[in-house]
This record gives sequence, structure tokens and C-alpha cells, in this order.
Amino acid sequence: LLDCELTDATVAQIALAVANLQWREELREQSIRDPLSQLYNRRYLEASTGREVARAERARTRRRRTGLAVLMLDVDDFKRFNDEHGHEAGDLVIAAIGGLLRRMTRASDIASRYGGEEFVVVLPDVTLERAMARAEEIRVAVGELKLEQQGEPLPQITASIGVAIFPRHGDSVESLIRAADLAMYAAKRAGR
Ligand code: GH3
Ligand code: MG
Ligand code: MG
Repeated sequence: LLDCELTDATVAQIALAVANLQWREELREQSIRDPLSQLYNRRYLEASTGREVARAERARTRRRRTGLAVLMLDVDDFKRFNDEHGHEAGDLVIAAIGGLLRRMTRASDIASRYGGEEFVVVLPDVTLERAMARAEEIRVAVGELKLEQQGEPLPQITASIGVAIFPRHGDSVESLIRAADLAMYAAKRAGR
């Protein structure tokens, strides 16, 4: 058997190295995640979706039925919600939607807070029908969120979601997000 006794100095060095690794991981997490929703931030979304679009582009040559879908979700009448219940209650909504999207997506999906009360979910390798069904499940779940502030129930919220799929509605991250945004606004006009 080897003599495995470590000197105090070696132990201290290892502890320092581990702490350094943990710190670097924490910094990396902070640079890609939004703290309130715990979802990916917009910068990470755009960078990683670019990679997914390139992958979908390669897959297209193999004549597959599936593509890369982008869901754009926007909370309805959120300004009024803030005005009536306060900004802190609004923050609870953002955090709850973050939790919901994390629960309802897979590790291979990219769920992000795009900005303010707007969220983008990227689903690699789905059909349009599947993406629409996922959007509908999310929409229903948002409507069923039960939130409370200091023990007092807050009113239900609703959200509008637009869906776009590669290559039918766009062939780049930007054009797909724009198409999903337009579809989301159509949903708003149709009654939120
Ligand atoms: P619409 O149904 O058309 O989407 O109406 P809306 O009121 O949701 O849209 P609008 O863009 O007018 O307002 C968005 C509001 O979202 C205004 C802003 O104060 C609020 N908001 C954005 N980010 C946050 C946040 O992090 N916390 C809270 N509490 N509110 C936020
Ligand atoms: Mg908005
Ligand atoms: Mg809104």
C-alpha cells in the first residue's frame, strides 16, 4: 500500500483548487442565467440557438419532418398587474413562470427569459404540431398558476404564445424569433 497521508499544505492546496473551480462555475452560471427566473438569459439563448439552427440546417438535407421550433411567450396585461398588485407581486409572476418553464422543458430545450415579461423556449427537433401542443400546454399551465403574496392569493394571469419553426418560418435565429414574435402579437390581438 502507498502511504497516502497528505500534508496540511497539500490539503490546503486541494481545497483552494476546488474552491476556485466552484467559483468559476458560479461565475459562468451568473453570466448565462437570469437570477429572477433562473432561466437562461437572452445572450445565452441567442448564442446557443445559432448552434441549434446550424444543426437543423444539416438535418434538413436528410429530409426530416422535424425542425427547430421557437416559442415566444409574453405575459398579458402585465403592466396593469404591476400597477394593481405592486412590482414585487410582478416579480413573483416572473419567478413562477421561470419555475414552470424549467419543469415543463427538457434538458435539450433552451428555456430563457428574453427580456422583461417575455420568454423564449427553443425546442430542437420537433414537428410544428408537437411545438404547438407544447405551447398550448404551457399556456394552460400559466393560466393555472396559483400565486400568493404574504398569504393572500393573487389573481390568475394569462400569457400569449407565438410559435415559429425552422425552416418554414425562418432560417436564422433572428428570423425565427421575429416570426414567433409576430405570431405572439397575432394571439394578443385575437384576445390575449
Ligand atoms: P400586453 O398584454 O400587450 O403584453 O400588455 P403588457 O401590459 O403586458 O405589456 P407592456 O409592454 O405594456 O408592459 C410590460 C410590463 O412588464 C411593464 C413592465 O413594468 C413590466 N415588467 C417588465 N419586467 C419586469 C420585472 O422584472 N418585474 C416586474 N414586476 N415587472 C416587469
Ligand atoms: Mg412584452
Ligand atoms: Mg405583456
